[in-house]
Amino acid sequence: MVKYVLREYKTILNKLKFIDTWFWVRYTCNPYQGCEHACVYCDARSERYYIHPEFDQTIFVKKNVKEKLDAKLRRARTLLPDVVGIGGTCDAYQPAEMNYKNTRKLLEVFLKYKYPVFLSTKSIGVLRDLDLLGKIANETACCVAFTITSLEEKVNLFLEPRAATAEERFLALEKIKQEQPKIQTGVNFMPIVPYLADSDENMENMVRSTREVKADFILFAGLTLRDKQALFFLRKLEESHQNLVEKYHKLYQGNYVPKDKAYLLRISQKMLGYCKKYSVNYRVKRWIPSDFRRINYLIAQELADKAYEMQILGKKGYKGWLWAANHINNLPESIAILAKKEQLETIRNVRGIIKAEVEGLIKKYDKSKTLDSYF
Ligand code: SF4
Repeated sequence: MVKYVLREYKTILNKLKFIDTWFWVRYTCNPYQGCEHACVYCDARSERYYIHPEFDQTIFVKKNVKEKLDAKLRRARTLLPDVVGIGGTCDAYQPAEMNYKNTRKLLEVFLKYKYPVFLSTKSIGVLRDLDLLGKIANETACCVAFTITSLEEKVNLFLEPRAATAEERFLALEKIKQEQPKIQTGVNFMPIVPYLADSDENMENMVRSTREVKADFILFAGLTLRDKQALFFLRKLEESHQNLVEKYHKLYQGNYVPKDKAYLLRISQKMLGYCKKYSVNYRVKRWIPSDFRRINYLIAQELADKAYEMQILGKKGYKGWLWAANHINNLPESIAILAKKEQLETIRNVRGIIKAEVEGLIKKYDKSKTLDSYF
């Protein structure tokens, strides 16, 4: 039996120090604390999120979220509209939402203040809010991604016991695109669970299905196993897939990601190959504001995309590119101004070949004629 507890929280919107370069999210917002979907691999169980231990049994429903968010955005002097990731340590459309409607209330406020949103879910409950999500997509930008890890229902029942079936999730993606084509849609094929969902067949079918429902992208990533999350997952594995436990110990060797780099490389290369074969993007198209951040965001996206490819192909030096992207995302003025003042090197990590790349990108994206047009 799941218990719902109404609780007052001080904050409802969290600003990230660095923009997340997977989903291009600047803010995060969790309508609930805890998640009834109870996925066995959920990383919200790890200590870094400080969630209560029985997080899939007791769901804290945040009180007065609409009023709180409205007050925060109305008074905000230092906040600029940017992409809000809704959910993350909870599923915004878990069963509680059908009753309490916290997610819908928050979406109404984001629409009012013109904040773009990125939603990841495993519930077809999101279809209820298509009208609102479509309006956000028309005003700014909206992305809805379904996390789907396997096309085999037996595997899904073990990994995600209370989520919608994979078929329902793919059908929902198709419906969203048909009814609200401006919404960017995608599949989060994450985590790719070793020995249960990493077969060539499953990986190829995931990409093919993404293509068939006309989704815009598929993101893929491996399984992390941190502290309490690892303990929970391995305990569950022991209960129903005992034969895999030893294989996991060999693959991870106590690390939070697989120690075997050849394994990771195999997955990445296969996935890149399938994405190419079915012409499916493996990166999200980010929202680009029209103020001074425009050129910064365009350049940061290119650097982060390059870092991502280097990383998954096992190339060294990707962190420098990623950090350069992070610092460019955070600039308080247009990077073109810094270039004109010959101050690009004041940006951390922008030197050597990265600086040369940035200079080329400034030429590509800087359409302004005068300095004044930046203000
Ligand atoms: S839906 Fe997401 S947040 Fe909820 S239990 Fe599953 S992985 Fe965790």
